Amino acid sequence: MITCISPIDGSVYAERTPLTSGQAQAAVARARDAQAAWAMLELHERIELVMAGVANVGRMNDEIVPELAHQMGRPVRYGGEFGGFNERATHMAEIAQDALAPIEVEDSVKFKRLIKRVPHGVVLVVAPWNYPYMTAINTVAPALIAGNTVLLKHASQTPLVGERMAQAFYDAGVPEDVFQNVFLDHQTTSDLIAAKSFGFVNFTGSVGGGKAIEQAAAGTFTGLGLELGGKDPGYVCDDADTDAAVDTLIDGAMFNAGQCCCGIERIYVAEKHFDAFVERAVAIVSAYKLGNPLDSETTLGPMAQARFAEAVRKQTADAVAAGAKAHIDPALFPEDGGAYLMPQILTNVTHDMAVMREESFGPVVGIMPVKDDDEAIALMNDSDYGLTASVWTADTARAMAIGDRIETGTVFQNRADYLDPGLCWTGCKDTGRGGGLSEIGYHNLTRPKSYHLKKA
Ligand code: NAP
Repeated sequence: MITCISPIDGSVYAERTPLTSGQAQAAVARARDAQAAWAMLELHERIELVMAGVANVGRMNDEIVPELAHQMGRPVRYGGEFGGFNERATHMAEIAQDALAPIEVEDSVKFKRLIKRVPHGVVLVVAPWNYPYMTAINTVAPALIAGNTVLLKHASQTPLVGERMAQAFYDAGVPEDVFQNVFLDHQTTSDLIAAKSFGFVNFTGSVGGGKAIEQAAAGTFTGLGLELGGKDPGYVCDDADTDAAVDTLIDGAMFNAGQCCCGIERIYVAEKHFDAFVERAVAIVSAYKLGNPLDSETTLGPMAQARFAEAVRKQTADAVAAGAKAHIDPALFPEDGGAYLMPQILTNVTHDMAVMREESFGPVVGIMPVKDDDEAIALMNDSDYGLTASVWTADTARAMAIGDRIETGTVFQNRADYLDPGLCWTGCKDTGRGGGLSEIGYHNLTRPKSYHLKKA
């Protein structure tokens, strides 16, 4: 069984039966059969159907918000994900015509030469629970718009999300075989990939999961998008607006109980701002209200699973045992226990500590003073990951110059923890390979096909 244990109280919130191997193969076959007719629709017809499905998800938002709290613990006060979900789908719909347009090389009396962008066929989307609607729509919307059919395999922690999306899209008129929500176990997922079921697989999740997908695809030549973990740094330069920096970076570290792929996991602060930065950060975090995510007062919910909270507790305890200083007073968070994890800010940290090297994916952040840009860049690059980096400076040329030297997928100046659908969502190192959203997202969800036509 696929079982969602609610982090609110450890009860079983939902159970689903995964497809058997035969059922999964049949779902792929239906998706394959449905693809040609879907791709034959005019682009604007596919866009209208997809956007009607997106709008239907918006109509469900009042039910979705508490459902998300039950499934993965995000407080209801934040109102769900429809804002980003809709923003991303809308942007991808708006750029589709240009992004998918053929490249005309020649149209003369004698020759017609062009490169079309054609769909891969069936696309598998494997999605995580931490932003379950937004991470899924990043690929589902452009894949469908580009003329692919889609199988969505959502996380066991958020089994209702794929069901909701499928229902919303069917109600909008998207044919059932064009977009299918499937419950798959890992082995069946790997077996389908190894059997060349898909033209493209987009996996968003852990590094371990990404490796398993890459191994399953070995030798099949299946296109892969692997959007994996991060250990994203923030760097506050000596000329930064430190109040804005601390507000944004601490929110980036703690929002969603720190369970953001591009959450801030380590902060480097110019020496002259260090004490003030830490003081303000501690004041902000000390005011959080940890508790039941269904309570409108709660600003920090439980982590999605008790074992995730245990892993972060261990990272923090190990760092403290090795000399780190913990600034948040446990007495302020009597609710701490099980999946409910108090937030923590650590100083006196070093890169010998796991908390500064391994993805925490929880409400803890280490802060280090740095003497200059060179030291900050060296520390930011001292990581196995490269998703985003947030640089705080009043000088855009400096942000660009620093950004050019950071091994990362996205460079932010004076902002953090935001996914801009106009830009390519991508990473380097163990954060994976590929790129979603933007025009490049469409390039990855299609393949080039060349036409060299001699007219006479
Ligand atoms: P996860 O355990 O890797 O799961 C992600 C998805 O992959 C789930 O649907 C999961 O299914 C599936 N999965 C995992 N291993 C698999 C395998 N061997 N074969 C087939 N499917 C497999 O990750 P998570 O805990 O849900 O998400 C947290 C991680 O995702 C963090 O590392 C975070 O940084 C990363 N993330 C990255 C991005 C990005 O854009 N780079 C965005 C969001 C999250 P089950 O749930 O059924 O196991």
